[in-house]
Amino acid sequence: MPRWFRVLTIGLLTLLAQASLCCAELQTLRVGYFNSPIYLTKDKAGDYTGAIYENLETAMAYVGYRPEYVPLAPEEANAALQAGLVDVLAGIVSRAPRNSEAFDMVDRVIASTPVYLAHPYNSAPPTGRLRVGYYVPVYGALVDFYRSKPEETDLASFEMIPYDDMEQFYLDFRRGAVDACLTSDFRPDDTIPIERTLFPANIYLAVRPGDDELRETIEAGIEKALAVDPAFRERNAVDVVSSILVLSREEREFLRSRRVIRVASSGHQPPLTYFEGDDVKGIIRDIYDRFEKDLDVRVEIVQAKNNAEVMELLAAGKIDLAAHINANHNRANAMNARLTMPYLEFSYLPVMRRYEALPEHPRVACPRKHFFIQNYVRRHYPEESILWCDNFSECYDAVNEGRADVLFAKSISVFQELDSEKYYNLQTTGQIAARTRMAMAVGANADPMLLAIVNKEIAHIGTRGVNEIVRRYMVDAYTVKSWKAYIYENPLPAVGAALAVAFAVAGAAIYTLRVRKESTKELFKAAYVNPFTGIHTMRWFERFVPGLIEKRHKKERAEGRLCLMSLQTHRFDLLKATYDQRVLFAGIAKLIKDVRKKNGWLLYDSISSELSQMYILFRREGSMSPYEAVDKMMEDAAEIKGENISIHMSYRVGLCDIPPDGPLDLPQLMTNAAVARSEADAHGEAVGLYDEKLQKRRVLEKKIEDLMYKALDEEEFQVWLQPKYDIRTHRVIGAEALVRWQSPELGFLMPYQFIDLFEKNGFIIPFDYYMLEHVCRLQKGYEKAGRRIVPIAVNQSGVHMREEGYVKRMGEIQSLYTLPHGAVELELTETAFIDYDMKTEGADAPSIVAALREMGYAIAMDDFCTGYSSISMLQRLPMDIMKIDRAMLLASEDSPRGQKILRNVVNFGKSIDMLVLCEGIETERQEAMLLENGCNFGQGFLFSRPMPNEKYADFLDEHGTALHESA
Ligand code: C2E
Ligand code: CA
Ligand code: CA
Repeated sequence: MPRWFRVLTIGLLTLLAQASLCCAELQTLRVGYFNSPIYLTKDKAGDYTGAIYENLETAMAYVGYRPEYVPLAPEEANAALQAGLVDVLAGIVSRAPRNSEAFDMVDRVIASTPVYLAHPYNSAPPTGRLRVGYYVPVYGALVDFYRSKPEETDLASFEMIPYDDMEQFYLDFRRGAVDACLTSDFRPDDTIPIERTLFPANIYLAVRPGDDELRETIEAGIEKALAVDPAFRERNAVDVVSSILVLSREEREFLRSRRVIRVASSGHQPPLTYFEGDDVKGIIRDIYDRFEKDLDVRVEIVQAKNNAEVMELLAAGKIDLAAHINANHNRANAMNARLTMPYLEFSYLPVMRRYEALPEHPRVACPRKHFFIQNYVRRHYPEESILWCDNFSECYDAVNEGRADVLFAKSISVFQELDSEKYYNLQTTGQIAARTRMAMAVGANADPMLLAIVNKEIAHIGTRGVNEIVRRYMVDAYTVKSWKAYIYENPLPAVGAALAVAFAVAGAAIYTLRVRKESTKELFKAAYVNPFTGIHTMRWFERFVPGLIEKRHKKERAEGRLCLMSLQTHRFDLLKATYDQRVLFAGIAKLIKDVRKKNGWLLYDSISSELSQMYILFRREGSMSPYEAVDKMMEDAAEIKGENISIHMSYRVGLCDIPPDGPLDLPQLMTNAAVARSEADAHGEAVGLYDEKLQKRRVLEKKIEDLMYKALDEEEFQVWLQPKYDIRTHRVIGAEALVRWQSPELGFLMPYQFIDLFEKNGFIIPFDYYMLEHVCRLQKGYEKAGRRIVPIAVNQSGVHMREEGYVKRMGEIQSLYTLPHGAVELELTETAFIDYDMKTEGADAPSIVAALREMGYAIAMDDFCTGYSSISMLQRLPMDIMKIDRAMLLASEDSPRGQKILRNVVNFGKSIDMLVLCEGIETERQEAMLLENGCNFGQGFLFSRPMPNEKYADFLDEHGTALHESA
């Protein structure tokens, strides 16, 4: 092997002595470097960047060195090293690390950056012999070397065009005079499409000949870094693949002696960190939960006002770790801290107005105090086009109101923002504009052991582990828990308009539904192929897959290896509201194709017209369980990843085995898989199998379906009543009608056993009329008996909102019984309105509610505080009664914060003239707490359980009644 080495450089001629920033405990390592943007350079802002820089900082931290950088021209490098002006030379590319007279190579590679082949943007893929340009000062040596290694790359098949002049090189590249170029510069905000990796470039360090001690120290540092994270040298390009956690005995002892690791996180940044009650919640907390589990320590999270405070606490030794700071060694060093490995990546997405193209010179709304995004915007847009805002919400408002055209927001929070009704007019294309990595940090003088342990744990969790947590917050949990999270996370100066808008998603959801409806019609035209994705439709699946199984998969079926999967994209409406449809659809299509390619055992698939659902027939390979199959698939399908796009996806999956023999009823099996899915979903699980239990449930459901019409005719459904009362006086103010089914065949059934089914199969419609009419009759009876009428509430399913002629029928019932106004209340849940499709009948929720009130029904909003948008809903739909859900009561019981929210909700209800009542009171303590917070009315087991009507009449006599005119 030839003895050669070569220096990479874009030379700087002056040798600058650097002022020492170092603190006493750390030793300085003077590193001579040759300016190169890929490996090591100092940018305009005075920050160092590059692979060598990152890795050297990482490795040296383990051996107590702090590097200091000295720019050198290549020709003066050796002299500088000999003269002791620098201790190390960085940026030496060599395949054969050997000693020379000038320097000793450090055996371990410090950085390994792939060299890519990249095409000019927008150019058509070239054909024939590629003309590949390269910049000689950076790639000359590598090209020479790899040319002589045809077995390692196909470099020889290209026409290599050397450039010595950078300007000329870029000019030719941009205008397409070359077909491709070599680059290692993998910056995601770059517009250069990377085709593939050509070869690796390994970078070495060199020390003075004979300086064995230093050489060995450096090697030890690199080795330590490798032990913690085997991929650390390639960190610039790859994800952290979860590695096994191996702690040394010293490290374990270190942890044992510590027991508690104190961490500080700055400010409220949901979903990163936020309060729920008095607990810290969010992505950061979940990540530290992993720490606790894996390392067997307690991790305490302290909330600091801002990053500056976090760094102060760290410097003062009051905490061990900063939870999330920009993974920028320069800034960390300046603050006397040491970075861990980056563990979290934030991407920033442009947010703009829907249906409007960006103008050529857009005005950009940018938050003033946000270091990273401000930097990004400044670099990409002229100062005069920047609208400076105090914070992100101002930016959103500015774009929404047309004062600016675009803003850049963190992808993890963009969801929630766009989820709000206020911004239904905004969307993101999903194109990632910029990315930044976050790391943790330890104090500069902290025991390096801590750094090693934290890094090992980060590597152990891995990018996938972190992504899983992030996804949970982005798509799943955060958006669903909705208003609660919102109020918990935001101090509540006042409830009212401000909250109303922030809670609202109803508008957006309805909006999405409308769009969906329109496109659905279009889609039905294509019977077998989905026009957006080219994937088969469900109709095709039902129709052709049985034949295909018979023809091609008979043996596999007989072996019991065929399985059906029903898959639903979680919160698809949200995805659709958030991303540009074209981008999303194209992403889904590509994702499916990629997943198929990776998993040959997926046999046939089909997609629903609006792309939210799929049915997939697959074959279990070897000993693979259906769950393992799903795991594998979900992993591959976790992210729509494109050139510059990343959309996190999560799914709900149901599985059903294809029976090995007998007739094949595919539609039934598809239903079974879907049942398994929705059953799992209802229990908060992602995957469900159609098993014996479900089978039994199904059998019971079948029985119920067979019996329900008869039950209605025979009046097997009984109206039970649960009193509502004034907590202050314990007098009855009304009652709620709750059904009980006394079935001769099935026994005594509670509503939870059949109401959901009735909603699904539509039987809820005649059923609710039955309950309503029975209640009307009861009231009529009381009236005739000359008793005072106490209001009775009946529950009304949301299904009525889609029922044709609902209002008319309700009017008929009212005029049939001619009861006084308010004698019958209707309890509606907000989901009734969210699922409501405005297109039917031209009516809408507000007008339905208004019409019902007009007729004399009092309207109650049931289960208040469990859904998305209760408060905003009330602003648009005036109602009479607010029934606060039991969950809210429980949440407030032991949390001062929860009580504050409760009080605000109660006040809000009263302020818009509602009667505010709380459900599910079981203890006197709860009663007292409610009164303290202004809620005077209640319902619950403490006062009375539901009872048959006869008993209720006695109960009324016993307890007396009260009018509830005032709250
Ligand atoms: P809901 O409308 O929220 O009714 C209140 C439920 O809470 C009732 O359950 C009631 O028995 C229960 N409850 C009352 N006080 C307490 C308490 O102190 N502690 C606890 N833990 N629970 C309490 P139930 O009767 O089992 O009804 C369940 C659900 O079934 C109802 O929830 C309602 O959504 C539905 N439902 C019942 N009857 C009808 C009906 O006639 N039509 C329709 N559409 N739905 C009905
Ligand atoms: Ca109710
Ligand atoms: Ca309720």
